[in-house]
Amino acid sequence: MAELTSQEVVDLTRTLNYGTWRFQKGWMPMHVVDAEGCEIIDGDGKRYLDFSSQLMCSNLGHKNAAVIAAIAEQAQQLAYAMPGYATTARAELSQLLLEVLPQGLNKFFFTTSGTEANEAAFKIARMYTGKNKIIARYRSYHGSTSGSIAATGDPRRWAMEPAGKLPGVIFAPEAFCYRCPLGHAAANCGNACANYIEHMIVNESDVAAVIVEPIVGTNGVIVPPEGYMPRLREICTKHNVLLIADEVMSGWGRTGKWFAMEHWGVAPDILVTAKGITSAYVPLGLCATNEKIAAYFDDHYFSHGHTYEAHPITLKPAVATIKEMQRLGLVERSAELGLYLGEKLRELQTRHVCVGEVRGKGLFWALDLVKNRATKEPFATYADKVSGKALLVDQIAGKCVADGMTVQSWVSHFVIAPPLIVSKEQIDFGVALLDKHLAMADEQCVTS
Ligand code: PMP
Repeated sequence: MAELTSQEVVDLTRTLNYGTWRFQKGWMPMHVVDAEGCEIIDGDGKRYLDFSSQLMCSNLGHKNAAVIAAIAEQAQQLAYAMPGYATTARAELSQLLLEVLPQGLNKFFFTTSGTEANEAAFKIARMYTGKNKIIARYRSYHGSTSGSIAATGDPRRWAMEPAGKLPGVIFAPEAFCYRCPLGHAAANCGNACANYIEHMIVNESDVAAVIVEPIVGTNGVIVPPEGYMPRLREICTKHNVLLIADEVMSGWGRTGKWFAMEHWGVAPDILVTAKGITSAYVPLGLCATNEKIAAYFDDHYFSHGHTYEAHPITLKPAVATIKEMQRLGLVERSAELGLYLGEKLRELQTRHVCVGEVRGKGLFWALDLVKNRATKEPFATYADKVSGKALLVDQIAGKCVADGMTVQSWVSHFVIAPPLIVSKEQIDFGVALLDKHLAMADEQCVTS
């Protein structure tokens, strides 16, 4: 068979595959043939700085020799064993997880995605508590399957009605001080949005768990105020409700700590993660629970499992990924370089009237674009996003691609999250391109 041309690859892909989270018309995927470090390379040999680590997951960058070797070794040694068996890969990874996860999380269930890990968390929470409802927040994303999309506050749920609305999930306001859903000024609100969750728990009575992204990812890199997470912990403990931290995106050094919950010293009962656990070399998700939950299942049936659960080829590269992160000091690097990136992005805000807010931690930032700084009106709404309307942020991202950089755009913001191995020069290059193309948004701003 003759090798396919780039054009043929793109055409076959568009014709024979679904493009996800989009209208199918107009899907024009880039043909990616190679990747190295913080760059991806297309069919014409053109290089692009990856300023969002693909889907905020390629944390180690591409072509890490140790991770590649781990995949090959495991494939040769033992490609698969059913999950009822013990494997060295699972034992090694579990032991290593005890070193890096927040304290108290010491029983693990391995999946092949963040979505599945959240589904496991919901089932475990319901089995353990004997209660049904999950409290999730608006402006959240927890996965694409029926249960996890039903617990997702962002508008992708709307396009799936009624399937996106399984019973048993209720939504709370997000902890978003820039646009407080309760109308408070950021200072001295007394953690009103956390207190509202207590009000919900008391009035609903049947609440099994509260799920939060400790730092909200896709929906805007939203960092909660200092007192929020400790207050939420206090509320959950008081009412015997489990606290689930969805660290699928915020884990693995992304925010300058191994896990974002560490910023507030708060221990979740269940921690869910994926993405950076293998730096996206292979698909792996994790649902980690505390001892109390683990003990419950000693004499209760654990009614869950998958054929590909704890798949050896996914576990061994996770061991290699964690060891590489430790060897290269990438968590500390993310904290340090994050200060540099944050400073550069704040400079953009001084030059561009369209930048309403710059927020983030570590190498995890959002540029929130607004038409009008006084009213904070965004360039697009969630309704625009799911209606397939052309969005300004996507147009700007397209201009960046033409100039050699990929960056994630969403509704009216960018998620800037380069691989943790990014250099200062690469940060400068990426910020300079944003600087160049944000002018397009400035022109549409109301300044009077
Ligand atoms: N939770 C969060 C916070 C996420 O960011 C994502 C993916 N973007 C998921 C869950 C779902 O993970 P996956 O795509 O691996 O199923």
